[in-house]
Amino acid sequence: MKTDFLIIGSGAAGLNFALHAAKYGQVLLITKKKLKDSASWHAQGGIAAVLDPKDSLQNHINDTLKAGHYKNKKSAVEKLIKGAPKAIAHLESLGVKFDTTPRKEGCHSHRRIRSVADHTGKTVIQALIKAASKEPNIKILENTRALKLLKSKGKIIGITTTGEQKIYAKAVILATGGIGQKFPKTTNPKTSTGDGIDLAQEAGAKLMDMDCVQFHPTVLSSPDKPPFMISESLRGEGAKIVDENGKRFINELEPRDIICEAMNKKIAQGHSIYLDITHKNPDWIRKQFPYIEKTLKKHGFDLTTNRIPIAPAAHYLCGGIATDLSGRTSLPGLYAYGEVARTGAHGHNRLASNSLLECLVFTMDVPKELQ
Ligand SMILES: Cc1cc2nc3c(=O)[nH]c(=O)nc-3n(C[C@H](O)[C@H](O)[C@H](O)COP(=O)(O)OP(=O)(O)OC[C@H]3O[C@@H](n4cnc5c(N)ncnc54)[C@H](O)[C@@H]3O)c2cc1C
Repeated sequence: MKTDFLIIGSGAAGLNFALHAAKYGQVLLITKKKLKDSASWHAQGGIAAVLDPKDSLQNHINDTLKAGHYKNKKSAVEKLIKGAPKAIAHLESLGVKFDTTPRKEGCHSHRRIRSVADHTGKTVIQALIKAASKEPNIKILENTRALKLLKSKGKIIGITTTGEQKIYAKAVILATGGIGQKFPKTTNPKTSTGDGIDLAQEAGAKLMDMDCVQFHPTVLSSPDKPPFMISESLRGEGAKIVDENGKRFINELEPRDIICEAMNKKIAQGHSIYLDITHKNPDWIRKQFPYIEKTLKKHGFDLTTNRIPIAPAAHYLCGGIATDLSGRTSLPGLYAYGEVARTGAHGHNRLASNSLLECLVFTMDVPKELQ
């Protein structure tokens, strides 16, 4: 098989790049399970974007740098934040209807998280899939896994897939997501096995900041229950993190790494940790967080009346395949977008709701040499 753009992965990064690349040539998008199987589908909280005149792009930039411990690449942060309003407008043009009141999350100095209740990722992916399926230049292959990158004279020219099939392309795009499944406890779905990192490393591409793995603090922790993530937007709306005596020990709106550190200290001392939003009106909770409320109920916990046992779990790879601001890796012919890429935007600790944003903003402009 031959194509112009070979995209590996059907999360927000892969699908959005496909839509933009289709203007310039034939696109083949492969994905190892079904189209909807991705971390993007599971994103709850939302997408950070400055749309309120009382907020400013500079505030969002400052918050991103603060969360990242000032280890971010400034040009990548600027691209990310300045591209946010356009990314939201793009999704709206595809039919996504965001809630009218933006949410607040940890380390954000303003309410600027655009959400669709607590199932933002699902709504965004459904809209991207619908748009991609209407585009005649995009062909999709499900249940097809990339196994190896093909290289000739130092350039990536294609891949081999399951079934020993070879696919050649002018550009190979890795949009394979994160590495959560390499850890014993993770918020990530089964597809997040770090394939893109393995493929790139084997081919000799440069990786960066691979030690910068973000743990999410509010993940269900109970024997025989899955590590179900409970969105940071609950804390933005007043949920407290408490010990078994109901005592708070950390400001819940600190960046994630700071909260995890405080929780780990407590756990090491033998304490149990809980997330508690029971002071809020039950109807309000059910309306704001319908998916989380229903899922917890399925696991035997009532969010409206119970405090929920939680512990940190592996969540997000801030490092990855080193790219420039256009997604070029260190190997000609190979590009990377989304969580698998290390653009430098997140520094050593990603700001909440900046990840879907990165998937969307960095895939909006197809690199010049591919246009
Ligand atoms: C539970 C949860 C909640 C989250 N909430 C938010 C949020 O509210 N806001 C936010 O900004 N971020 C959130 N995140 C993080 C964000 O969802 C991810 O970082 C982002 O969706 C990654 O998108 P992606 O396109 O890079 O990868 P993914 O969405 O993971 O897509 C990767 C794709 O690649 C495919 N793939 C992998 N390997 C191969 C292979 N070898 N061959 C073929 N296909 C392959 C996978 O099947 C999948 O389709 C959340 C993450 C989780 C897990």
